[in-house]
Amino acid sequence: MSIREQNLGEIRDAVAKLCAAFPMEYWRGTDRERRYPSEFVRALTEAGWLSCLIPEEYGGAGLPLAAAAAILEEIQRSGANGAACHAQMYTMGTVLRHCSEAQKRKYLPKIAKGELRLQAFGVTEPSAGTDTSSIRTTATKKDGRYVINGQKVWTSRAEHSDLMLLLARTAPREEMQKKTDGLSVFIVDMKAALGRGLTIRPIRTMINHATTEIFIDNLEVPAENLVGEEGKGFRYVLDGMNAERILIGAECIGDAKWFLAKATDYANERKVFGRPIGQNQGVQFPIARAYMATEAAALMVERAAALYDAGKPCGPESNMAKQLAAEASWQAGDMCLQTHGGFGFAEEYDVERKFRETRLYQIAPISTNLVLCYLAEHVLHLPRSY
Ligand SMILES: Cc1cc2nc3c(=O)[nH]c(=O)nc-3n(C[C@H](O)[C@H](O)[C@H](O)COP(=O)(O)OP(=O)(O)OC[C@H]3O[C@@H](n4cnc5c(N)ncnc54)[C@H](O)[C@@H]3O)c2cc1C
Repeated sequence: MSIREQNLGEIRDAVAKLCAAFPMEYWRGTDRERRYPSEFVRALTEAGWLSCLIPEEYGGAGLPLAAAAAILEEIQRSGANGAACHAQMYTMGTVLRHCSEAQKRKYLPKIAKGELRLQAFGVTEPSAGTDTSSIRTTATKKDGRYVINGQKVWTSRAEHSDLMLLLARTAPREEMQKKTDGLSVFIVDMKAALGRGLTIRPIRTMINHATTEIFIDNLEVPAENLVGEEGKGFRYVLDGMNAERILIGAECIGDAKWFLAKATDYANERKVFGRPIGQNQGVQFPIARAYMATEAAALMVERAAALYDAGKPCGPESNMAKQLAAEASWQAGDMCLQTHGGFGFAEEYDVERKFRETRLYQIAPISTNLVLCYLAEHVLHLPRSY
């Protein structure tokens, strides 16, 4: 049966089966060595899961976002770290809506076949942080190409990706009516660029995320690699963000479900004072609370995905889905660590790894404060705070 013909339950089962071939020892090893899980990414790619959002005419499965969310949730629920490859789905929000037909024909079939990876998204810069409009990387048009100069930070998977979507300034901020105008998105062929204007330096972090900083020095990119119209890049990136928020939310739900299952099993098995620790309400209640938070957040993820797939506005729902799910996974992670007592700190239980990994989603790709700012300003019509 093709991926397209499967219902969500079948998709979940198939992804769970694939993930089961990558046991916890595998993830412990990649985490310990800060090694990219190439084998896992290859298996997902070969099974077609990473190209599920690519339309059928370009060789993908053409599934709705709800299916992509289910795939990522299952990956995280298995205990894996899907951060190694999730960007191939996030980037589709921008690519499918704004790349030209020629760009889609050039790249999407190869991405679908696994011949090219589009896993890098270069937006954040050291001095700009959350304030994307103040990025300093510039792209200047010259003789049919753009010459790019600047620096990005936290460009994850840059060493493991063939292509990168890069945001750069093509017109000075001071000359724009709106500070978010004058930004443009480019498709960068990273393999061609390495050593010819592009330098990648890995950043070691508390999680295995293959994140890097990149330095761009007179990098030449063909003009045909500009996505959409020059100067409209901020909107293109924003357009992709609802999909990204929903998919992150789904990953957090997967994490939360992993923590809940792990804590419940341990609370039933571990005996102290001659009875299972799960018999104590002091242990049960935090598990029940985390379960409630997870179920509620999952409903918001589902609702946001349904609106997105129906082509309806879903900014508030996508942001709320991401935030509620990230809070639920963190609550579940904290509960799981507490339930395990001292053993929660031992590497072999995997709790400490997942605890570290799920914490990221309160900061990236957008920090919790900025989601709250969005809701305050755009939904509740309170004054803009920044
Ligand atoms: C492991 C990892 C992977 C990442 N991967 C990528 C990637 O692949 N591509 C990419 O482009 N970026 C990536 N990022 C960057 C990530 O999106 C940013 O870290 C995030 O957007 C926050 O920006 P910042 O770190 O500069 O924080 P800052 O903007 O410096 O903010 C610091 C703190 O101040 C708060 N703050 C700032 N302004 C306000 C305000 N107006 N009101 C209230 N609070 C405020 C923030 O909420 C935050 O808590 C990654 C980050 C990490 C850690």
